[in-house]
Amino acid sequence: MLKIGLTGGIGSGKTTVANIFEVLGIPVYNADERAKELMHTNELMKQQLIFYFGEETYADGHLNRKHLSSIVFADKEKLELLNSLVHPVTIADAAQWFSRQTSPYVIKEAALLFESGTAEGLDYVIGVTAPVTLRLKRVMDRDHVTSEEVKKRMLNQIDEQIKIRLCDFVIQNNEQQLILPQVLQLHEKLILLSEKNLPEKNL
Ligand code: ATP
Repeated sequence: MLKIGLTGGIGSGKTTVANIFEVLGIPVYNADERAKELMHTNELMKQQLIFYFGEETYADGHLNRKHLSSIVFADKEKLELLNSLVHPVTIADAAQWFSRQTSPYVIKEAALLFESGTAEGLDYVIGVTAPVTLRLKRVMDRDHVTSEEVKKRMLNQIDEQIKIRLCDFVIQNNEQQLILPQVLQLHEKLILLSEKNLPEKNL
């Protein structure tokens, strides 16, 4: 079974692309969503978050995202600390999830795939890319936030063009090229790769 990463900058369309793979029957592990779940369910991580970020990190047993965001998006070191607490737990959780799958290939979707060091355990990585103006607009519309807030989040990710150069396959989500045919073509390629276990260049 091949393990495929799916990444891209904020608002590039990772989840939109992941949803198409799911419709094709490919299991998807959404690392960002799962990390949020684990912040509620993993007792050790909860204790660590309270220790480093204060009692207000949880309100009535629920993660107080506003409190956490106000700390980490204003201080790079605090963000690194948060990531250092969350990433190992998510990586271990993903490994368990991988071991339960039986599909020819599976996808792990994560915004910080390279930044977190997760990409190393994967066979191939797909990058989703879109012009920065489009990404800004999409996130502002989706999350009802200002462009400054989106730009602040973008600063915590490596530049999308650098990210894309590290990927084995690229999906253009610039609203000029349809994404469905690109995903279908990639799906066929990945099925072939999983059957023959060939490196990409041999296809
Ligand atoms: P994040 O990094 O914030 O999780 P993402 O990369 O997963 O974002 P999506 O959530 O898939 O991005 O897309 C961002 C928004 O843009 C969503 O509201 C989505 O519906 C919209 N969107 C993505 N691709 C397209 C497209 N090709 N046409 C129209 N809307 C799109």
